[in-house]
Amino acid sequence: MQLRRYIPPARAARSAPRAATVEPGTTNHHGQTVVRKAARAVNDLPGQSVYVLRCKGCGHEYGEAGIRVHQRKCPVCDGGKPGLPVPAEEPTLFG
Ligand SMILES: [Zn+2]
Repeated sequence: MQLRRYIPPARAARSAPRAATVEPGTTNHHGQTVVRKAARAVNDLPGQSVYVLRCKGCGHEYGEAGIRVHQRKCPVCDGGKPGLPVPAEEPTLFG
């Protein structure tokens, strides 16, 4: 009988996207910075919120679902897909 070395599954969990990737001010590998979370849900992705991203290269602002933010490329200068429409910023009591 041969014993196999047990590999704990913790390693897989470490590479999963974390909530920290959509914190405002975070910039992904393609130079897309999270500006803010929009108060709106994504139509084709139940449970996901839209985040507003800004390209460091050209300043273009567009929306994207939270789970896609970390891999997003700019649709204007980096060949990314067109972004989601950006909802107008909603005024708050403290704005
Ligand atoms: Zn750009």
